[in-house]
Amino acid sequence: MPDGTSKRIDGRAISDEITKGISKQVQILKEAKITPGLAAILVGENPASKIYVKNKRKACQDTGIYFEEYNLPLDTTQGRLYSLIDKLNSKNDINGIIVQLPLPKHLDEKRITSRVACDKDVDGFCPKNAGLMLQGSYRLLPCTPAGIMELLRHENIKTEGKFSTVIGRSNIVGKPMAILLLHADSTVTICHRKTKNLKEICLKSDIIVCAAGKAGLITGDMVKKGAIVIDVGMNRDSNGKIVGDVLFDEVSKKASHITPVPGGVGPMTVAMLLKNVITATFLQNPHVPLKFNRY
Ligand code: ADP
Repeated sequence: MPDGTSKRIDGRAISDEITKGISKQVQILKEAKITPGLAAILVGENPASKIYVKNKRKACQDTGIYFEEYNLPLDTTQGRLYSLIDKLNSKNDINGIIVQLPLPKHLDEKRITSRVACDKDVDGFCPKNAGLMLQGSYRLLPCTPAGIMELLRHENIKTEGKFSTVIGRSNIVGKPMAILLLHADSTVTICHRKTKNLKEICLKSDIIVCAAGKAGLITGDMVKKGAIVIDVGMNRDSNGKIVGDVLFDEVSKKASHITPVPGGVGPMTVAMLLKNVITATFLQNPHVPLKFNRY
């Protein structure tokens, strides 16, 4: 690779490989007369959420996973959502349930996502799955951090002894990402909105995972030469184009590896969701031997 250019990590190609493996697992389950099923709940008309759900539906169709979609109006009550989740929790042909976030402000996201049965919690949000992850017993992991670990593994990037920085502390991305890197023997720093010396911390980092949701947050002068930069951001610039949190053109001159947006972390998140649906299906059918590398 010429000096001053980094390797662009192709999340789409890596996710395609994983998806092929998932199609095979679906076949194994179908031979045991089980069709894995995913239900997605969408409240309101958020355009980004609609695209995400559409991508998930397509990924299920491509791999042979049964998919159900519930589109509820913006004024849906907490009680109505609870009763739908309860119904799906006891539905035999549904093995995974996702509630597409963000939910409208009048709904309590934590309570609603916690209502999903832990065995069907393919987003890895429920307190049991999150607690087990914290202890290092991986069951159903949050999809984006799991996808990033998979990207690093695929690119043969060692995390052991590395100084890794996670920017963002959400329960969905930042916090679980930090835990997974910690368990992979990195020395981990978590930065957030109140962090004062972000540039200084980034300049020391071997691995940077940015999940802040702020376009242009990471500039070329914040990254040391040879660092690995993973961009989780999905923002729209002034022309409506999707961009990450990292200024790709500047940072790719410094980093040894960098993920693009789109085509980096995004497709991996969907692939990990499918993987979780398969894992959940095996969890709910313990008589079928697990021929699957979980985490
Ligand atoms: P996601 O679901 O992608 O993790 P959230 O909006 O829930 O996104 O969280 C964004 C996170 O990014 C928060 O933890 C916030 O503290 C962090 N963040 C936002 N802006 C900055 C910033 N300028 N510098 C550092 N961290 C930031």
